[in-house]
Amino acid sequence: MAKVKIAINGYGTIGKRVADAINMQPDMEVVGVTKTKPDFDAKMAVKKGYKLYAAIPERVKVFEEAGIPVEGTIEDLLQDVDLVVDASPNKVGAQNKPLYEKLGVKAIFQGGEKKDVAEVSFNAIANFEKAIGKQFVRVVSCNTTGLTRLIYTIKKNYPIKKVRATMIRRVVDPKEDKKGLVNGIEPNPIKLPSHHGPDVQSVLPDVNIVTTAFKVPTTLMHVHSVSIELQDPVSEDDVLKALSEEPRIMLINSADGFTSTTRIVEFSRELRLRYDLYENAVWADSIGIVDGELYVTQAINQESIVVPENIDAIRAMLELKDKEESIKETNKNLKIGI
Ligand code: NAP
Repeated sequence: MAKVKIAINGYGTIGKRVADAINMQPDMEVVGVTKTKPDFDAKMAVKKGYKLYAAIPERVKVFEEAGIPVEGTIEDLLQDVDLVVDASPNKVGAQNKPLYEKLGVKAIFQGGEKKDVAEVSFNAIANFEKAIGKQFVRVVSCNTTGLTRLIYTIKKNYPIKKVRATMIRRVVDPKEDKKGLVNGIEPNPIKLPSHHGPDVQSVLPDVNIVTTAFKVPTTLMHVHSVSIELQDPVSEDDVLKALSEEPRIMLINSADGFTSTTRIVEFSRELRLRYDLYENAVWADSIGIVDGELYVTQAINQESIVVPENIDAIRAMLELKDKEESIKETNKNLKIGI
């Protein structure tokens, strides 16, 4: 079967990871990627064999002046694709949407967009079916993906009453040198709750959830402290078993040296390209039940956790495989759950 043709509009932190992951699948291929700046990422894209296009038509000459070959503009790229993954900066996806509508191209947006940019807010294990055949789908943010996976996995096995969670957020991605928080802890937002709870409800509407969030001076990962009130008595072993059966959740243990996010990153450096960790890293020894309430701590690599979700969203929207087959295929090709 011919591979479906995918464009990446926005070859940045998320876009380049999704591009590489697409090319690791047997049923899809990247036909072009876009940038606005002729920087090292643009040069690397060309070096890696990606066809480069200007995300903004007026920028073609900037690439030409820098001696970087571009094939044309985003509009040229979209002439012959089955779907575009929009991984442009926050809120820019919504500005790009009219072009996708004009050309009748299916599009995946990322979590920096408002939920009304798309028909469906997506998480593969929680609501794959909702995205089948859809025109516009939003893959929810890194924090929401991490929370949704954890809550869905518990909820699938044991009914839950409510969730309360605190996100300890990395302040920026490692590449950012223009912004950050050098020596502070920033309640974000100060007025509670944070947007993450409603965002989880965009995928799991029946979950009673309230979240709070704080930014801290680290770039590596987010950490979530989650408590889940369960409807019926459940043991710690029950929870461990349920989590161990979900490949997109990786159980780690402090006895193995996983004492902080730095250790998880060191482990990921051995495991994967770019130390990407597609799984939730859940500390098995953080799991505790007190008065019918489950407590659990997890770490999320913000740069890579949404990558498998984008791959599964492509398969759902283009009706390439059903939920189980798609997730299995993605997991196999990205070596998730090994
Ligand atoms: P990023 O690293 O800043 O990359 C954005 C890319 O979009 C860059 O390649 C940029 O190219 C390109 N771009 C700029 N203007 C554009 C336009 N008008 N049209 C198309 N592309 C344009 O951002 P990111 O971190 O990958 O974030 C992308 C999306 O993923 C956001 O919605 C974000 O909220 C979401 N997300 C991010 C993370 C994360 O931790 N990074 C996690 C989950 C979800 P130039 O560099 O050449 O200007």
